[in-house]
Amino acid sequence: MLQRNGGGLSLVSKIERKAQALNIDKCGIIRPEAMSDYADRLRERMGRIPNGEAVYGGFLRFADIREKFPWAKSIVVIALSYGHYALPANAAHYGKYYLIDSRFNPDSPERKKITAFENFLGELGLKTASSVHPGITAMRWAAHKAGLGLIRRNNFLYTEKGSWVSLTAWATDAEMELISDGSALPPCPDDCDRCIRACPTKSLFAPYTMNMATCVSRLSTLSAPAAYDEETGRRMGTRIYGCDACQDVCPMNKGKWTGEREFPGLRELGGLLSPENILSLPYAEIERILAPKFFYIKKDALWMWKLNAINVLANAGAPAGIERIAAMLCDEHEIVRERAKRALDRLRASERTRAAEAED
Ligand code: SF4
Ligand code: SF4
Repeated sequence: MLQRNGGGLSLVSKIERKAQALNIDKCGIIRPEAMSDYADRLRERMGRIPNGEAVYGGFLRFADIREKFPWAKSIVVIALSYGHYALPANAAHYGKYYLIDSRFNPDSPERKKITAFENFLGELGLKTASSVHPGITAMRWAAHKAGLGLIRRNNFLYTEKGSWVSLTAWATDAEMELISDGSALPPCPDDCDRCIRACPTKSLFAPYTMNMATCVSRLSTLSAPAAYDEETGRRMGTRIYGCDACQDVCPMNKGKWTGEREFPGLRELGGLLSPENILSLPYAEIERILAPKFFYIKKDALWMWKLNAINVLANAGAPAGIERIAAMLCDEHEIVRERAKRALDRLRASERTRAAEAED
């Protein structure tokens, strides 16, 4: 790591050493004003998507943490990789980050490291502020500014371990700066647009330009009755919660998911994550088993799980799915009954077409 620091060299060294001792992949520190161009980039993006102000305007609050924390003099940001975890059965229906999400999981090794690091900042006498979710600043931009890695055309921050990294940041009251060497990573190849072509909903439609409102990761977790229409549902394919398409196809992620370690409880959970099982789970069980881990779907909107599972089975088109979906015609939520009816109409129409074609 390179180090530049005006007035707190020993403090910076201690923080850097602690990060290394905790086996934190990357640690950097920036001054709050280093985020000043974030607002410009965000406004550029807002101008390129429909309804941009409504979709992204709220993120402008991340441009200057001193509005919320007037005492803040630096932002400490760390990156923890998670590509070393083994994926369970049915993982393909889920964004991988959500399967090993450490944010509200005290058993997660990453959460333990984050807690230990935060405690250390306190032991150093620093005043700090952080937010497990949604964070105190624009994490990827802060990490990029701190030299932890490179933001690629799919908008994800990459370190040497690919884009499979989670980011955490703290505001502190000490003037410090520690710029890491992540910008030494090779850039995206000139002619590469694989991530854009892979996006199922065309949410990522140009380099660095994604419309969050149509991203599967958002649509599948929005907890809104009209989250996605039928055509969008088709494009979502077999995704229940989240999407990794623009990361999975990226050559810069090739070989970066090593998957050699077990994440606590994930293997056991894997069998429960199939769309068939979700349709058969009572809501109380969804709340008990799934809601704590996959917290973007709100507890008062657990029917989103059923909608997404119906959508997946309808898209898969397997005859076995018809029976499962038909059982949802008696669901306690009208929106689930309606969605099940539409899916069945579609599946049965496809069956009739297939039968007619077979007769011809
Ligand atoms: S996560 Fe999926 S839907 Fe969202 S931008 Fe990437 S490929 Fe598109
Ligand atoms: S798929 Fe290609 S263009 Fe997209 S982020 Fe990866 S290297 Fe860059």
